[in-house]
Amino acid sequence: MISPRIEINLRKIAHNARTLVDLYGSNGIKVSGVTKAICGHSEIVATLINSGIKTLGDSRLGNIINMRENGIEAHFLLLRGPMLSQVEQVVQNADCSLNSEIVILRALSKFALELGLIHQVILMVELGDLREGLMPDELDKTIAKLLELKGLRLMGLGTNLACMGGIIPDENNMNQLSAIANSVEKKFRIKLEVISGGNSANYHWFMHTTDIGRVNDLRLGESIFLGCETIHRKPIPGLFTDAFQLVAEAIEVQSKPSLPFGIIGQNAAGCKPSFKDRGTIKRALLGIGQQDVMISDLTPLSKIDILSSSSDHIVVDTGKTNLKVGQEVRFNINYNALLSLMTSSYVSKLIVE
Ligand SMILES: *Cc1c(COP(=O)(O)O)cnc(C)c1O
Repeated sequence: MISPRIEINLRKIAHNARTLVDLYGSNGIKVSGVTKAICGHSEIVATLINSGIKTLGDSRLGNIINMRENGIEAHFLLLRGPMLSQVEQVVQNADCSLNSEIVILRALSKFALELGLIHQVILMVELGDLREGLMPDELDKTIAKLLELKGLRLMGLGTNLACMGGIIPDENNMNQLSAIANSVEKKFRIKLEVISGGNSANYHWFMHTTDIGRVNDLRLGESIFLGCETIHRKPIPGLFTDAFQLVAEAIEVQSKPSLPFGIIGQNAAGCKPSFKDRGTIKRALLGIGQQDVMISDLTPLSKIDILSSSSDHIVVDTGKTNLKVGQEVRFNINYNALLSLMTSSYVSKLIVE
């Protein structure tokens, strides 16, 4: 079979998506499916839609354009703030975008008017994680200007935590978001339809809060695909954590020392490596490397040890597995690995169920 490959279990993804849609839906929160880690892969996206997800969010406009071209019918949300150089395509291809810059909003408005379209906007509020979003005391000023812009519709507010600063979504910041929403509505006499409270990191807040306040939307990627929350990276009960597996093939298996011999200078990555002495071991080279995935993001599913990697090879200690040339090795993967493996054109994507 072709390798390296990422095996994709659609049944498990469907189960995870449906379970999360039901869980959050039980308290009035809609799930937007985040497709960036799977690069808008058609069959996976179709699985999300069939599992009750209506909005698809992606940070890359190219993925949104591909999904549309592949006939996926959904409400498309651009997650990363639009670039000034792409606002026209944003208006043409995304129904809604997350925003924080008035300069961008003016440009979106101009193209929306030209194209005769209404572009929906969710304004992002900075609540401590220090990635995108307006500081709360800057919000009113921007909203006042935004409400003057034709061709745009302010759908609501959003926030994003646990990405840059590792800030945990909790009662405090979620209540703050609700309070800001209420005050904006009162001040501008408008109704905010969407309050998008965050991502897969919002799981514990949701499970423990007594009042979700105004939050009625979460943008979920990792918990759907990998079945875990993202504060402690613990499995969410009832979800599959192995919907994706990496399979790579052994291209050399030789008994060799575990320590390099000769004088040590720099390796391919430009650093002076150090290794543990395990005596003579059976070393296998796998036909996949750093161009596709980082070894720190892989967990072997057999009793082998990952030793090292370069651009096109991963080296493992085969241990007692008796791995032979041409045989395959399986790995569980984390979110970083999912991102890079789905992005790598050298890794084939195989639907297994
Ligand atoms: C990637 C992303 C998400 C999804 O995050 P997960 O941790 O995968 O659930 C949500 N919102 C924004 C703005 C994102 O960029």
